Amino acid sequence: MEWLGLQLFADLPATGRIVIDCRHEPFLVLLAYLVACAACFATLDMAERQSHSEDPTAHRQWNMLGACCLAGGIWAMHFISMLAFQAPVEVHYDASLTILSLLIALAVAWLAMHSLDRSQMRTHHYLQSAVLIGLGIILMHFVGMAALETGARQYYQTGLLLASATIALLTSLTALCLARYFRHGSGTLHHAMKYGASLLMAGGIVATHFTAMSALTLVIPADTALRLPSGDNSLQLALGIGFITLLISAASISTALADKKLQSKEHDLRRVSVLLSQLDQARASLQQAAHYDALTNLVNRRGFNQVFAERLAEHQATQSHLAVMFLDIDHFKRINDSLGHDAGDELLKVIASHIKAATRNHDLVARFGGDEFCVVTSLNNRDEARHLAQRIMQRMKEPIDLGGRRMVMTTSIGISIFPDDGTTAEELLKHADLALYQSKGNGRNSLNFFNDSLKTQASIALQLEEELRVALLEEHGLCVHYQPIFDLRSRQVAKLEALVRWRHPQHGLLGPDRFIAIAEANGLIIDLDLWVLRHACADLAYLQRHGHGNLKVTVNCSAVTLSHDELPNEVEKALFHAGLAPWQLELEVTENALMGDIQRTVNLLKRVRAQGVALSIDDFGTGYSSLAYLKRLPLDVLKIDRSFLQDVPGSQKDREIVQAIIVMAHTLHLQVVSEGVENAEQLAFLEAHGCDYLQGYLLGRPEPLAELRSLLERLEHQGGLFSPCCDTAQPVSPDLFADTPGLRAGASTVRQGH
Ligand code: C2E
Ligand code: CA
Ligand code: CA
Repeated sequence: MEWLGLQLFADLPATGRIVIDCRHEPFLVLLAYLVACAACFATLDMAERQSHSEDPTAHRQWNMLGACCLAGGIWAMHFISMLAFQAPVEVHYDASLTILSLLIALAVAWLAMHSLDRSQMRTHHYLQSAVLIGLGIILMHFVGMAALETGARQYYQTGLLLASATIALLTSLTALCLARYFRHGSGTLHHAMKYGASLLMAGGIVATHFTAMSALTLVIPADTALRLPSGDNSLQLALGIGFITLLISAASISTALADKKLQSKEHDLRRVSVLLSQLDQARASLQQAAHYDALTNLVNRRGFNQVFAERLAEHQATQSHLAVMFLDIDHFKRINDSLGHDAGDELLKVIASHIKAATRNHDLVARFGGDEFCVVTSLNNRDEARHLAQRIMQRMKEPIDLGGRRMVMTTSIGISIFPDDGTTAEELLKHADLALYQSKGNGRNSLNFFNDSLKTQASIALQLEEELRVALLEEHGLCVHYQPIFDLRSRQVAKLEALVRWRHPQHGLLGPDRFIAIAEANGLIIDLDLWVLRHACADLAYLQRHGHGNLKVTVNCSAVTLSHDELPNEVEKALFHAGLAPWQLELEVTENALMGDIQRTVNLLKRVRAQGVALSIDDFGTGYSSLAYLKRLPLDVLKIDRSFLQDVPGSQKDREIVQAIIVMAHTLHLQVVSEGVENAEQLAFLEAHGCDYLQGYLLGRPEPLAELRSLLERLEHQGGLFSPCCDTAQPVSPDLFADTPGLRAGASTVRQGH
């Protein structure tokens, strides 16, 4: 077969002269091998760079450079080997075919680099590429051979030609595997292996060439004259090509090396910057944990102190106003106790978001723990603080759905202003707290500004606390007044409610509203309640000894006392010492006192009731009672709070409420006491609707025991009258109840206070 003047797979002709004495210049063969080695090493380097570069342009450039190195290496090896070929004939090269062979080498090299660039290479990819590259190398070789003009014809022996093609194919396959393998890795061993691989690949390329060359026989046709070689510049040309190729390979290798170093530096820098940003994040989350409340994401007390100090310094410099607001969620504890802490947490989150939404961006909003929040805001005048507080209170009233219930929360707010109410953080916070205390004392859901009288009140409260402690310890100054509770059926006084008073040396007779809260806040209330209990039992025993044997006494019990495990024993002792029967005692507990640990309270109350002591629920309707609670409690009596009676019979709504409470209590087998009966209409209404007992100024005010005795005697003398009575024993007009069916006496005067 003749192709480009080459005789492939053809037998030698019968005529013509065979050119013998062909040989290769060993030095140039070595040079060719060296050039191939350098090019292979450079190509491996380029393949490695190509796989490491993240920038697409750099990636393309490494691809090109790799292709150039490999093509240059293969082609230069071929050309230098050709120059090493020494035959006793004149040799020329066809320029266009030589350039074509170079282009083929380029195409082959580009194909090789492209194959290596695949993200995944499977066996069939390797085989396909190796066949294409191997054939390409063979093609390049024979095009290069066709460029050789000697006047002799080239005959190729089939066996060696096929062997050369096989070597080309195997070399390509090996080179692809090695290049793929050496794309990753580092270290001395990796480098040494890479050198070895380069030698191997170059060996394969050189072997391909020289096997093909050994298949060649030059035959000078019989009719052609033999042209002997003239001047020979092949050594210079080979050296020139070798030098240039080595230079290009060396330059490529150095570029790759520099890039590798640069990239590793870049990686280091990136790693450092990642570490730094991680460090920053860690610092930020530490800062977050230390200065922010995890539940609401608001600033916590610590963070608040820091920011508040800065804000205060700014305002001190400009002498501008600043408001500090303390917020306390009304009755939050009840939510926690009744719905559980998870629900409480959910609620706090919603509340925090409400507060945040009502404030401005630059206002400082903090959670101090529990249900205490604090807002700091800059302002021009006091009214701005009031408006902000009102906005918060308004927001707070938006219904919140929680645990399947819809609830409305309210908040109490105390405000202090810089610089009017204080110049230091401590002072401003203390004064805002005092103002908050005032708001809570005013029935909550209100806001108060600090003023100097609060300070005075606070110091009075502090002093009262001390004095109350002493009064309790020395049992001096405290006394009990009794208010009669009438049985509507018998028209007799059935019970006496024991109401504590304090004869204070400076402030005169103090009502419980002045000191119960203080006692509750300082744990004195248990002692106080137990003192009243003992005293009331002793007083009832005294009355019993003086002819009033059918009376009961009712004693108020605060929430704190209800959590006192010794309460049943104390009740037993008090009854025993006074010599009373248990039925003569009734304990009054408010609904709110039942909101704590309900199970524990129920158990304690059951122990008290098991002794035969009656229990009543006081101020019914003002707290958070639900029917479910009422059913669980071991109760005997329900006392309707006087606020429901105030507008009876005027208000139809209140009339209906009172009626409904009476019906409900009777359904639960509870007796009903109405508090705060102040006029005859109320009395008539209550009697008409089946109320069992009445208590109120119309019928009798709380009085000391001595006055009470005379009242009881007068009533007994009259045969059981609803007779108004007061602390100062005003005369009674018997006509007042004349037109009230079933009542034989009435009151003329109703006074507020006593
Ligand atoms: P409370 O248990 O609801 O007692 C009834 C209060 O209503 C008494 O006030 C009484 O004077 C007042 N009151 C009675 N009838 C009328 C009326 O017709 N109109 C008006 N406006 N008020 C009437 P007081 O004595 O000032 O007691 C206030 C509260 O202090 C009591 O409310 C009770 O919760 C508490 N308290 C009194 N003594 C004790 C005690 O020994 N221990 C405890 N823990 N609390 C007590
Ligand atoms: Ca009471
Ligand atoms: Ca009451």
